[in-house]
Amino acid sequence: MRSLREPIRRSFDRAVAPIVRMSETRANHLGSLFTDVLVGAALVWAGLYRTGAHPGMALLAFGMGLLAFSWVEYGFHRWLMHGQVPLLGPGHRKHHENPTGHDSMPFFLPPMILAVLVSLFALLMPVGDALLLAGGLACGYAAYGLSHAVIHVKRFRHPLGRRWAAVHHVHHYHPDANFGVTTPLWDIVLGTRYVRNQEGTERIKRA
Ligand SMILES: [Zn+2]
Ligand SMILES: [Zn+2]
Repeated sequence: MRSLREPIRRSFDRAVAPIVRMSETRANHLGSLFTDVLVGAALVWAGLYRTGAHPGMALLAFGMGLLAFSWVEYGFHRWLMHGQVPLLGPGHRKHHENPTGHDSMPFFLPPMILAVLVSLFALLMPVGDALLLAGGLACGYAAYGLSHAVIHVKRFRHPLGRRWAAVHHVHHYHPDANFGVTTPLWDIVLGTRYVRNQEGTERIKRA
């Protein structure tokens, strides 16, 4: 079994090598930030256009998408990027070694995944709500990409901005804590938030 796995892994590595190289470029990084914002805005616009008569449902679908993405952001970062998943684990390790580098998802992947999600959601709910649910996910993803880029290149003056950015900078020193970038919500819920105790020493707060 082992002897079969190794050639398969080598073939996979060879097949994805051009995509990995492309995902390390500045053009891909900037292109994906732009594409993600554009796709999020287009999905929300199309969803609002189709929903019309149900503003409460529209808001609920968009809010659920945002909340769902905050979970995806946490789960991917904790279990996949800090795991051994090809394209995610090694790519994320490069980001920890060089936080201002350009490693990011290939720009075409998120729109492809969102297209599949819209199709699946539309089987379960009206098309307008499916677009808004996917729009919430897409806007959450765009906010994550922009937040992560800004946190590593900007020094915030406002104390709230400094505290928000510090949560992620702490993750770079303590990779087993603070997995949420846009929000600490799931770190608080699942007990992986890095906190100072009364003695002033720091620890990961377990639930
Ligand atoms: Zn980072
Ligand atoms: Zn990390």
